[in-house]
Amino acid sequence: MPSTRRRSPSSALALAAAALAVAAALPLLAAPAVPDLDPDLVAFYVDLHRNPELSLHEEKTAAKLAERLRRLGFEVTAGVGGTGVVGVLRNGAGPTVMLRTELDALPVEERTGLSYASTVKARNDAGLEVPVMHACGHDVHMTVWVGTAARMVQERARWHGTLVLVAQPAEEVVKGAKAMLADGLYSRFPKPDYVVALHDSPKVPAGKVAHTPGYILASSDSVDVTIYGKGGHGAAPQTTVDPVVIAARTVLALQTIVSREKDPQEPAVVTVGSIHGGTKHNIIPDEVKLQLTVRTYDRKVRQQVLDAIARIARAEAAAAGAPREPAVAVVESTPATWNDPKLDARVAAALARQLGADNVVESRREMASEDFSEYGLAGVPAVMFRLGAADPAALDKATAAGVELPSLHSSLFAPDRDPTLRTGVAAETAVLLDLLGKPAG
Ligand SMILES: [Zn+2]
Ligand SMILES: [Zn+2]
Repeated sequence: MPSTRRRSPSSALALAAAALAVAAALPLLAAPAVPDLDPDLVAFYVDLHRNPELSLHEEKTAAKLAERLRRLGFEVTAGVGGTGVVGVLRNGAGPTVMLRTELDALPVEERTGLSYASTVKARNDAGLEVPVMHACGHDVHMTVWVGTAARMVQERARWHGTLVLVAQPAEEVVKGAKAMLADGLYSRFPKPDYVVALHDSPKVPAGKVAHTPGYILASSDSVDVTIYGKGGHGAAPQTTVDPVVIAARTVLALQTIVSREKDPQEPAVVTVGSIHGGTKHNIIPDEVKLQLTVRTYDRKVRQQVLDAIARIARAEAAAAGAPREPAVAVVESTPATWNDPKLDARVAAALARQLGADNVVESRREMASEDFSEYGLAGVPAVMFRLGAADPAALDKATAAGVELPSLHSSLFAPDRDPTLRTGVAAETAVLLDLLGKPAG
């Protein structure tokens, strides 16, 4: 059980005392109800956590979700955009609302020490054996999604319209949303009026949720730059054009895009995450390869940064007398994720009614990215909110010490399981019931 894992006896005692204090205070609070967690749902989570699958290989995971929805009476279509699953529950005339979860896990070796930690290894697309872990908490999202599906079936009399549950593959490689849309998500199935999703967060305590109007996540572009020189003997630089020196100048000049070219009010990141060239001390190579990630929110800023990267790379090569222009290619792109402000306000209000206003906070946007952005850009108001996953006591302790708890994608990321799942089901159900609510009277 997570309530005893990796805690010192003293912190366990402190927690027990805190729990007693909370229990004593409970009758005084008119706390909105967060129903208990179905033990079967915890077992479902543990199974998903123990059996993670890499992006584009989520066959068994998808089958488990499809089977749950079928049992609940959804019309289920598997194999949408790869391993994607779509479940439709029709409940009379009314709006259509889509709820999305992701299916995939990451090539990370779990080091949480949990009794149900993953020990799975799988072959990646390059044929290498890698460890696999639900280090982004997509197992939380799937479990909450299944729990919400069950609640929506139970609560049928309280809503009307069409519920579309979507389990998307390959979020971590930002391919699944596009693939599902290309496979007719908005045409073969009822097109939603609203799209919602949650993502767990180790920065928010379990029991709370966070919402963000407007941009919540940045766009992401992966850029490959190949700088061409003229190789030769390391002792005879006069016979060469050294691409290592051009690359070094280019990396530094690229830093001036953010610091000197763009509007300081507009956030952007340019990171050169990889630089490769040469084989030996005394050989000047023919070329050097750079790999960059670019993050922005605004589309114009994004284009300005990408244009500047190409311009600077070309100019530095020209300054060195390179024999040919560098190759600059954007190899992977994900747009920024925009939370429709009107829908965000409605979702936040529904969450506050269900969880209590104190348990709904507004959180800052982040420079990470997500292909959830695609559902909104395809013309439907969309909102993603954050589900607190941090053990509240551990988070308080970390905050007091000025450190952060293990982040998403960390080998140590361990959501505070039961309260996170319980709050997630209550939150998603509250949002869906609001968006599919029967008009008063
Ligand atoms: Zn992730
Ligand atoms: Zn994620």
